[in-house]
Amino acid sequence: MNASRPIWVYIELNEGRPKPVASELIFAARHLATANGAPVEAFVCARVGGYDADSLKALGADRVHVLQGDDFELFNSQIIRQALAERIEQGKPLAFLLASNNHGKELGAALSAQLLTGYAGDCVGLEMSAQGLSVKRPIYSGKAYATTLLKGEGAHILTLRANVFRPDSADESKVESELICEELPTLKDTIALIVKEVIAGSGDLDITEARVVVSGGLGMQNAENFKLLEELAHTLGGAVGASRPVVDNGWRDYSNQVGQTGRTVSPDLYIACGISGAIQHQAGMSASKCIVAINSDPHAAIFSIAHYGIVGDALTVVPLLNEEFKKILNS
Ligand code: FAD
Repeated sequence: MNASRPIWVYIELNEGRPKPVASELIFAARHLATANGAPVEAFVCARVGGYDADSLKALGADRVHVLQGDDFELFNSQIIRQALAERIEQGKPLAFLLASNNHGKELGAALSAQLLTGYAGDCVGLEMSAQGLSVKRPIYSGKAYATTLLKGEGAHILTLRANVFRPDSADESKVESELICEELPTLKDTIALIVKEVIAGSGDLDITEARVVVSGGLGMQNAENFKLLEELAHTLGGAVGASRPVVDNGWRDYSNQVGQTGRTVSPDLYIACGISGAIQHQAGMSASKCIVAINSDPHAAIFSIAHYGIVGDALTVVPLLNEEFKKILNS
């Protein structure tokens, strides 16, 4: 039933180039396709000419379909869903992979509803076996993982958590993707229109995709002091996160909130500054590969999950860390 059915991937662009998470999606798709003996195909929606062909060719998919049109100037899940759903019905991929970020989750759910196929969000593992495709996902706010065998013909719509599906080393066998471009007519007259997109929070870098997240809690004391965290995040090429009360206080945008009722992150490095480590906060960050906690209270719960702990005043420690990182990174 699954033999040779292609694995498809949706690629988001940032200024015409694939977002970093794109290579993880292709890597995961290739992992499934190898077991399946099938091709990997990627889909990109861009305004006419609004993409960098070389970076798309370098993605390592067998084919990259570039759907171009005036409607793709801004992300509009209704229009993209319509374009992709038709192609999924015709091409019958076994699975369609998207990033588990705002756009990926919205589009994935919309596709699943339109196609009446299953949707599994925030996957951290994918496996192909004689029984079919199974996915591993966190449950109970990340305290446990469930492995689920997907039933039905698909296409199974899956969103994958960023920073999980990464090759250990650069893939030397990467093929140059064939680029297939298609221009689509506008649907603007028939569909709700997005007139403006405002990027809130930590600038261009989404905290769910950042490899380094520098997060602050009430221990940062006021909104102004988050400048220290922005500086450290800038040095490390990361994004700024926050605990819920920080967001409730209006010190940071809601999109920065990490935790059970916020975003889930799994960066390589998570630096928790003045965060007590309540269970609801841990639910959003405990899968981070390296956790550094800075807290003035040696008994703070965050130290129980931290790989490195610094007992001290975050307002003093963070600028010192920033200076040291700058020296090391510049040398
Ligand atoms: P606090 O718990 O007040 O901790 C502040 C910490 O800063 C303390 O440990 C203190 O020792 C330290 N500190 C103080 N001054 C300094 C200093 N100068 N230097 C260093 N350290 C200092 N919370 C989330 O974060 N995300 C969620 O998604 C979330 N969802 C929730 C959902 C529900 C249903 C509920 C009930 C709660 C939720 N919460 C969530 C809230 C959560 O329970 C905690 O209240 C919250 O995480 C605490 O935030 P905090 O660590 O910033 O503040």
